[in-house]
Amino acid sequence: MSQDPYDLLGVARDADADTIKKAYRRLARQLHPDVNPDPETQEKFKEVTAAYEVLSDPQKRAAFDRGGDAFGGAGFGGQGAGFSFTDIMDAFFGGQGGAGGGGRGPRSRMRRGQDALIRIEIELAEAAFGVTRELKVDTAVLCETCHGDGAAPGSQPVPCETCRGQGEVAVVQRSFLGEVRTLRPCSACRGFGTIIPDPCRDCSGDGRVRAGRTLTVKIPAGVDTGTRVQLGEQGEVGPGGGPAGDLYVEIHVAPHETFVRQGNDLHCTVTLPMSAAALGTTLTLPTLEADVENGAGSGVETSFEIDIDPGTQSGTEQVLRGRGVPGLRGGRGDLVVTTVVETPTRLDPRQEELLRELAAIRGEEQPTGQVKAQQKSVFGRLFGH
Ligand SMILES: [Zn+2]
Ligand SMILES: [Zn+2]
Repeated sequence: MSQDPYDLLGVARDADADTIKKAYRRLARQLHPDVNPDPETQEKFKEVTAAYEVLSDPQKRAAFDRGGDAFGGAGFGGQGAGFSFTDIMDAFFGGQGGAGGGGRGPRSRMRRGQDALIRIEIELAEAAFGVTRELKVDTAVLCETCHGDGAAPGSQPVPCETCRGQGEVAVVQRSFLGEVRTLRPCSACRGFGTIIPDPCRDCSGDGRVRAGRTLTVKIPAGVDTGTRVQLGEQGEVGPGGGPAGDLYVEIHVAPHETFVRQGNDLHCTVTLPMSAAALGTTLTLPTLEADVENGAGSGVETSFEIDIDPGTQSGTEQVLRGRGVPGLRGGRGDLVVTTVVETPTRLDPRQEELLRELAAIRGEEQPTGQVKAQQKSVFGRLFGH
């Protein structure tokens, strides 16, 4: 244990008491055993706490600055240290962290905050190709006035007199078995073992306040309605200034005027006059890329042509490979184009004459119609008839 306590806390040698306290709290929030039970992290937490023990005590700090041994060989929380590890834990967290975890002893004021969820609507092209959005979020954040400990500046939580800092009190009940002694959480301190005599006015002692802020969120390509993007530790800060939960951004994709999405495939319908379907033609379709801002000027293909074969029937599907939506894990879906053939209406005399002539040439003046069991065969397959 020869590390420099200033280095351990990451503060300058002339840092004032408030800066040191703030630095320690920031580290303690990351390294606290309730938050991170990993043994290596706990060891780091003890080192940082020991460093704080030195720098928060003017006499010890002066002794170190004169060139003395910062940690005096006393170890942590042991006898001999005038100001033990437990004392510091009590002062900051109202208890010995999560030690034991069996409900014994005072409980920590500091807890991890809850996750938060916000929903946003994006366009289909944004879902397909990704987008960066500025989001306004409103969550609990660390109270800057008390740095999360809930005590007004210049004051400290003090041990609860009712339970003597234990966070629980013994209750004796008489029963036919005799006296039964049980431990109950102390109601005076709500089990924390400490009382905040002068709560911070900005957060009423909760260690956190609500605040709005703007976050920049990168939505990856390939998301769909219902996809949740996770932003680590951007949720609610916990009680006692505990580490924040995560923020989830839930995506809703707005309907598109041309394309309907099914998984990574896009579907669209083109309506053709009867004559074009019969003779064949070439159509120009927009790409989804055309929706992307500045897409037209940046070499992105905004439209493409498809051939309609002569004699195309209504309901014909053309599958265009790789013109769908990129998948979250790579690859790209297809575009399925369905043709709908329109029967001409409101014929003028000339058009009617031409159509009658065509019908005559094709021998279609008295069509019998072809009755097929097509529907039945489809349902037959579906329902096993
Ligand atoms: Zn506060
Ligand atoms: Zn108490």
